[in-house]
Amino acid sequence: MTEPRRNILVVEDNEANQMLARAVLELEGYAVEVAGSAAEAFDVLGARRPDLILMDVQLPGEDGLSATRRLKADPATAPIPVVALTAHAMTGDRDLALNAGCAGYIAKPIDTRTFGAQVREFLLIADRDKRALAS
Ligand code: MN
Repeated sequence: MTEPRRNILVVEDNEANQMLARAVLELEGYAVEVAGSAAEAFDVLGARRPDLILMDVQLPGEDGLSATRRLKADPATAPIPVVALTAHAMTGDRDLALNAGCAGYIAKPIDTRTFGAQVREFLLIADRDKRALAS
C-alpha cells in the first residue's frame, strides 16, 4: 500500500536553512512548502493544511512561538503538529516551545544526517495520537 505524500510546511527565514530543509525533506519524499515569516505561514494555512509544521523560533516580525500559540488557539489549525526549530535547545527554549504548544523541537544547526529521521518520528507520533483520539 502506498502512503499518500505528506506535506510539510517549513517556517524559516534563513535562506540557507530553507534550502537545506527543503533538500533533505524532498529527498525523503515529502512535499515541502517554505514560508519566510509567520505572516507567510498563516497565508499558506489559509489555503492548505500541512501534515506537520517546522517552526523556526526566531523569525522577523512575529516570532515562531507566538505564531504557534496562535495556531494552537484556532480550532482549524490546532490539530496540526508544530515542531520548533531552535538554535537554543540547551537554554530553556525547549520548555518555552512545549509551553507554546509545540510537539517537540529540533535543534539547529540542521544535521542533514538525522533531520529526515527526526521529522519522520514526529509524523509517526502525530499519526499515533490521531489514531488514539479516533478510537
Ligand atoms: Mn530565524
